[in-house]
Amino acid sequence: MRLLLVEDDIALVGHLRRRLEQAGFVVDHADNGVDAQFLGSEQEYRIVVLDLGLPGRNGLEVLRHWRAAGNKVPVLILTARDGWKERVDGLRAGADDYLGKPFEPEELLARIEAVIRRHSGQADNTLEAGGLVLDRDRREVRLPNGDPVPLTATEFRILDALMRAPGRVLSKAQLGEQAFEDDEYDGNRLEVYIRRLRKKIGAERILTRRGLGYVFVGDRP
Ligand code: CA
Repeated sequence: MRLLLVEDDIALVGHLRRRLEQAGFVVDHADNGVDAQFLGSEQEYRIVVLDLGLPGRNGLEVLRHWRAAGNKVPVLILTARDGWKERVDGLRAGADDYLGKPFEPEELLARIEAVIRRHSGQADNTLEAGGLVLDRDRREVRLPNGDPVPLTATEFRILDALMRAPGRVLSKAQLGEQAFEDDEYDGNRLEVYIRRLRKKIGAERILTRRGLGYVFVGDRP
């Protein structure tokens, strides 16, 4: 649930970052096009919110660079309210959606959720795997018998990353990237959270692959 916010208006960034973190995202920020292009090429993001008017390199160039390199990360561009040409250029360059400035943070959040749903083929804000249903709006996981189990924001992000890749080994670093702020992450902390999740959903659901990472068992055990 890591999100890249590319925006050079620092007041707007402060405001948006708080709201996005409340909504459960780990937020990286770039205030120029050069850093944005680098981060978007190196890190795995669930979505990028990309302002087009940026110092260093404009957002459209950054987006074209990613797409030319085969990077399919979902991108929502921020444009001038009356900038229809910008919007057309942005969509043609590979943006998934756009929002004109100024905007309400709630609309940005709703659009982010919609883009993420479309990108992962979900009909709503839930994710199913292995008989479990992860519900983003309620921040809970429902067990096969229907019992809801509440999750903390961090537990939710870890389980979300695991359930999106059933049967695949995710390294501690990959999970840590999706679940923690950079200065909060360490492997021991992740282990603590994995133990808590196992208590909540059943130890047999998350297997340890020693030296490699963790795997979510997608088939009903
Ligand atoms: Ca700008």
